[in-house]
Amino acid sequence: MPREISGKTGVCALIGDPIEHTMSPVMHNAAFEELGLDYIYVPLLVRPEGLAEAVRGLRALHVRGFNVTIPHKVKVIPRLDGLDPMAERIGAVNTVVNNGGELRGYNTDAAGFLAALEEQGFVPGGKKVALIGAGGAARAIAHILAQKDARLTILNRRQELDWAHEIAGLIEDSFKKKADVLELNNDNLKAVLDGAALVVNATSLGMTPHTDATPVPAALLNDAQLVFDIVYNPVETRLLREAAAAGARTIGGVDMLAWQGALAFKMWTGRDAPVDLMRREALRMLKGHEK
Ligand code: NAP
Repeated sequence: MPREISGKTGVCALIGDPIEHTMSPVMHNAAFEELGLDYIYVPLLVRPEGLAEAVRGLRALHVRGFNVTIPHKVKVIPRLDGLDPMAERIGAVNTVVNNGGELRGYNTDAAGFLAALEEQGFVPGGKKVALIGAGGAARAIAHILAQKDARLTILNRRQELDWAHEIAGLIEDSFKKKADVLELNNDNLKAVLDGAALVVNATSLGMTPHTDATPVPAALLNDAQLVFDIVYNPVETRLLREAAAAGARTIGGVDMLAWQGALAFKMWTGRDAPVDLMRREALRMLKGHEK
C-alpha cells in the first residue's frame, strides 16, 4: 500500500464477480510501493447486471485504469471507447487504460503468456505447439501464438469442438494461418505431442480442488518439450510435476499471471514493473492458500 493516500493518489481497480481470491491487488500495490509511485489498486465486486453502470462510474471517478476479470471480459467491450487491435481480434479485454476520459481496452493475458515464454528464451516461430483447451484463455493464447507464426494444433473435448473450430477460424481470418483442430483424447495427444516443442494446458484441468486431474498422460511427456500449465492454483500442478519428472522444461501459471499484471502496470504508470516482485507476491499469497 502507498504510505499515504492523498488527493493526488492515482486509482487503479479490478472489476469482476467473484473477486475474493484475486492476487492482483497484492501484486500491484507491492509494485507501486517498490517504485515509490503514488497509486493504489482496489478490487471492486461488479455483478453482471451492474457492468454498464460500473464502467460509467469508473470513468466519472477518473480512475487511471482497471483490470477486468470473469464474467466481464467480453461484455465490457461495447462500454469502451477503443480497443487495441489484438484485444479486438481476441474479442476479450482484461486491461483498460483511461486517457483523459477515453477508455481503451487491451488483452494482457495474451501478451503476458508470450512474455512468460520469452523470459524462458522460447521463440514460437515455426515451432509445433499443442494447445489444450478452447475457452477464454486458450482463445487469447492461440491468437498470440499464431501472430508469432507457431504451428498450432488445438485439442478440446469432443462436445465443445465447435469452440476450437471457432478459434481456428478467427486465426485464419486474422493471420492467414491454419490451425489444426482435434478431439482431446489419448491417441490424438500421442500423435501431436510427438515432436511438439511446446505443450500448453489452457483448460482448468488440475485446478484446486481437482488437483489429481491432468490433461496429458505422463508417458507422453519428454525432455524435448516445454510444458506451460496456465493453471496457477495449485502453483505446482500434477502436469508440471510429471513434466519435470520426464525431463521437460516447465512454466507455471503464476508467470503468466505476473506478466499480465506487469504489462498492465506499465500501461497505467509508464514505468517498467518489478515483475519478479509481483511474481513473489502472487506466490506468497497462493502458497498461503495451499496451507
Ligand atoms: P473457460 O473459458 O471456462 O475454459 C475452460 C476450458 O477448460 C475449456 O476449454 C473446457 O473445455 C476445458 N475443460 C474444463 N474441464 C475439462 C475437463 N474435465 N476435461 C477437458 N477439458 C476441460 O476458462 P478460462 O478462463 O479459459 O480458464 C482456464 C484455466 O486457465 C483456469 O484454470 C484459469 O484459472 C486459468 N487461467 C490462468 C491465467 C493466468 O494468468 N495464469 C489466465 C486466465 C486463465 P470445454 O470447451 O469442452 O468446456
